[in-house]
Amino acid sequence: MAKLETPVKKNDIVDVVFEDLTSEGAGVAKVDGYPIFVPNGLPGEEAQIKVLKVKKSYGYGKILEFYTKSPDRMEPPCSIYKQCGGCQLQHMTYEAQLKFKHKQVKEVLARIGKLEDVIVHPVLGMSDPWKYRNKSQVPIGEREGGLVAGFYQERSHRIINMDHCLIQADENDRVIQGVKRIAEKYGIKAYNEETHTGTLRHIVARYGRKTKDVMVVLITRTEELPNRKKIVEDIHKSFPEVKSIIQNINPKRTNVIFGEQTKVLWGDEYLYDFIGDIKFAISARSFYQVNPEQTKVLYDKALEYANLSGEETVIDAYCGIGTISLFLAKKAKMVYGVEIVPEAIEDANRNAKLNGTTNVGFAVGKAEEVIPAWHEQGINADVIVVDPPRKGCDSELLNTIIAMKPKRVVYVSCNPATLARDLQILDAGGFKTIEVQPVDMFPHTAHVEVCALIERSK
Ligand code: SAH
Repeated sequence: MAKLETPVKKNDIVDVVFEDLTSEGAGVAKVDGYPIFVPNGLPGEEAQIKVLKVKKSYGYGKILEFYTKSPDRMEPPCSIYKQCGGCQLQHMTYEAQLKFKHKQVKEVLARIGKLEDVIVHPVLGMSDPWKYRNKSQVPIGEREGGLVAGFYQERSHRIINMDHCLIQADENDRVIQGVKRIAEKYGIKAYNEETHTGTLRHIVARYGRKTKDVMVVLITRTEELPNRKKIVEDIHKSFPEVKSIIQNINPKRTNVIFGEQTKVLWGDEYLYDFIGDIKFAISARSFYQVNPEQTKVLYDKALEYANLSGEETVIDAYCGIGTISLFLAKKAKMVYGVEIVPEAIEDANRNAKLNGTTNVGFAVGKAEEVIPAWHEQGINADVIVVDPPRKGCDSELLNTIIAMKPKRVVYVSCNPATLARDLQILDAGGFKTIEVQPVDMFPHTAHVEVCALIERSK
């Protein structure tokens, strides 16, 4: 086999100009057309880099020295930004982040979806893009006898302590630090991955932005939790905002956070919160959008694109705990939600009751199986909303949508690449993408959420 020829070799030191950013936010420099991905480089900046890894059609590098810096650059406000890896764009001004996300959506739609003419609106950002997260889940470790709570150092199993996260609600940070001290006081041992011993694996805190309530979840290896009563009492006495203390038991050797068994130790089984005027009961394990302020912006856009008059039958595929369904139900005749996780559908039914909504029905199952079955039984929808996970919609579902001939499809996506792929399939089936609205749900990270309006062409 011929040895591959690349313009640079490992450990080469070269001068470059960054031209672009990857979807993960790394700088892209080219040497004789060969792209090298370099964290922390911004378009327009000149730097000296060291090549760390060389592959056939691209390589990786690191910056040794900057010659010039971009006006879009700023000092990352977080002191652990580099070690943590949870945020990728803190070295860019927020304005530049929003422009980057807009460009990325536009380019991906053109490249993967061949949708050059689609209107991509400027990204809807936050006026205050900090402390937006309502959920914090931190692994617990031990250092010199004390407990540490924080995050795994990149590419390692070492836990770095973190007292404060700039994108997290203060309430969650405070409660997690408090619970850590209380667990320490009662001699709770941290779980050790290598030996599969110890008790406390993770502490999870969830905050209801409107209700100001906090749910604490202690994830333990064993059902036994020494001094359980005292720990629980200390937590709710120290933190009156905590309305719910839950234990989840995960006895497995795994990096999945939650186990199968959940017990209420004290207070409510659910955390309550509102999006707009709709109330939601969220159980410890259910998916709930992490940025409630921007979720409202996203759902309002989905509702606007659905353009309902009150006469429509609507399908909400991938409905989770029924969040979008209940939003749509206010303006539709009937909404049918489909979701694969049974507990989420239990929550969805509870949430419908909680809001006195009667024009919704929820089904457990795969969207790509349930919706085709409905179609065969003659159930069709005027409007279909989809909000799939990162891998996008199953082709079976897309084919059924095309066969159902709804007037409109509203596609909510957390991955522009799979969105673009799916829009092209719908396009070939007679559905034209009219416009796309990106919403910044995750400031300072490279993630971008998009809401797309698709109409059936005559
Ligand atoms: N619309 C909801 C949830 C979106 S997240 C909200 O905004 O809160 C995507 C959801 O799709 C998750 O709840 C996940 O459990 C569900 N899901 C994943 N694969 C699925 C499939 N094949 N069929 C139906 N639901 C699925």
